[in-house]
Amino acid sequence: MIAPARPRKLAKVPFVELADGRLQGVVSSGSDIERVYVSSVGARTYAFACSTNNNRPCGGARGSFCNHIRALINEAVLQYGAERVARYLRVESADGEPSGQTLAAAMSATRPPQGDTKAAAPVFSRFLRHLAYLELAPTTAPLPEMQWFPPTRAVA
Ligand SMILES: [Zn+2]
Repeated sequence: MIAPARPRKLAKVPFVELADGRLQGVVSSGSDIERVYVSSVGARTYAFACSTNNNRPCGGARGSFCNHIRALINEAVLQYGAERVARYLRVESADGEPSGQTLAAAMSATRPPQGDTKAAAPVFSRFLRHLAYLELAPTTAPLPEMQWFPPTRAVA
């Protein structure tokens, strides 16, 4: 089990992963609790995509990173640590400790292309599978796929 670098708030970004050559995850809509966005940034190219769970394109993700993608990057830094996120996405960081903000800035500065949203459906279904664990009977045995939850400390 790998503990997150820092406890995360799950309400805003309930699912984040470094997988399939992308940073990808699920980000809650700021305004509508029924809606979530599936956001991703590709390694190397930083090709980005953001769409709703109903596969509608995110209005904010035209030409540059939207707030969901920025939130996803920040959460990934909390979950995995900035170094690991930078390494996975192949971001050359400027001097000093990278942060979610400096990573997002470094990637945006390259004017990354718009990615396609084909990955959204598999990411979203993995998220739903993770959610299904919430319906399991309580147990103290470790569930490896639950490791993205903060281990002990409760975060509101
Ligand atoms: Zn978005």
